[in-house]
Amino acid sequence: MENSEKDDGSFNEAAAADGSNDGSCAGSLDDADEDFRRMEEMMVEVLCDMKPRAPDIIRAVPAGRALRCCGRAFRRKSPMLFRGSFPTDKIHEFWSHSWHGNSQIKVVTALFLNNGKIAPLIATAIALIAVILYTAGLLPMRFHGGIPTSIPKYPRASYWAKAVGFVVFCICLLCWQPAKSVFVDVLCINQYDPKQKSLALFSMPAFLKASESLLVLWDPTYTRRLWCCFEIAAFLRSRTSRQTARITVRPTLLGPVFVSLPIALSVVILGLGFVPVETMDSGNHAVVWPMMAGFASVAFYWSVTKLREFFRSVDSLHRELQQFQCNDCLCHCCAVDHRKADGRWMACDRRVLLSCITLWFGSVENFDSMVRSEVLACLTEQLSSQVLTYKQFLVMAVPVIITWILPPVVWNGYSTRRRGTKCGWRLRSEQLLKSCSEALAGHLGVCPLFSL
Ligand SMILES: [Zn+2]
Repeated sequence: MENSEKDDGSFNEAAAADGSNDGSCAGSLDDADEDFRRMEEMMVEVLCDMKPRAPDIIRAVPAGRALRCCGRAFRRKSPMLFRGSFPTDKIHEFWSHSWHGNSQIKVVTALFLNNGKIAPLIATAIALIAVILYTAGLLPMRFHGGIPTSIPKYPRASYWAKAVGFVVFCICLLCWQPAKSVFVDVLCINQYDPKQKSLALFSMPAFLKASESLLVLWDPTYTRRLWCCFEIAAFLRSRTSRQTARITVRPTLLGPVFVSLPIALSVVILGLGFVPVETMDSGNHAVVWPMMAGFASVAFYWSVTKLREFFRSVDSLHRELQQFQCNDCLCHCCAVDHRKADGRWMACDRRVLLSCITLWFGSVENFDSMVRSEVLACLTEQLSSQVLTYKQFLVMAVPVIITWILPPVVWNGYSTRRRGTKCGWRLRSEQLLKSCSEALAGHLGVCPLFSL
């Protein structure tokens, strides 16, 4: 949760709010040093206690609210954000991230992690309903104009399943509102009330103690920020011997890759529908294949670029965790030489946070080795069993199943309608069943082979 708003020596205001110090010193460094040492000892004591510093200070928001308007909370601060939070004793997930990383890709990853499973499911269900309605003759061949009087050539086939599936997928991904309670700093800490903000900062270990799991949205700046490492430390420390530390580590490039691939696939599929039917049927390979290659290159270029960056980021994350040293992490206070903008001295967050870690784990080195072993093991296990998996590739290949459902039904439906036969519905139903079976077989068996 390392926050540029929080990582500004805010512990000084926190001490002032607690009444033990005015949070700064205008005298010499020597005079200030002793005052600050005492203040820092008090801060360490309060943080290590892991208790909320005020009633109702532990707050959460529904994940849907955190993702609202494409994650606006991550991009633009506003006093209104805090009003969406509610006091609670239990938080389902604590979202830990660095404010120094790219907020757009962080939001896409959060959207993917929360809505990436439900969106394709709903899109497929709605696409199937559209096909059934079409098969029943309740939807026209094209979007307007009713049943065509000649074989449709441009686009090649009806777009009901493809277009409906694609649009519903995008809407669900962006707008689905998961209800689980999460902690997001800008939403759960009142950034516009210095006293409330300070009390919340001193309650940070209590927030982590109240959280059932920790989601780390990792980018290269994460393991370099001391506040982020402190959150991992507090979460590990807050688990009892019976509790497993449920830490999920996800590189923030995961979202752009896993969202853009199905979208790119949909764009290719939609684009191919506009290849003139004569070209496809006449087997004019000199035209068809370059056209398909062109569609695919344009649509997948960005996805493939991000996929390569993602694998590089996973390597980098492994390396950083293997060589993790808390002492190498950065703090804003040290970067500005413990001087506020008005020239007054400020206390050192670094000394406070490292003292807490030492008290919790015996030494900073012990915590380092815990991160190198437990957190790294978590990451390795998750990447192999939860990220690049058969299921994940099935989700990405959903546009294929949606596409596969329709074309045979279209042609069958078209010819049946044109002939006006009475057995049209039965014939179309059989064709629909056949298409669905082929779609499932292709989706479950063939598409994942491309990922091997
Ligand atoms: Zn410092």
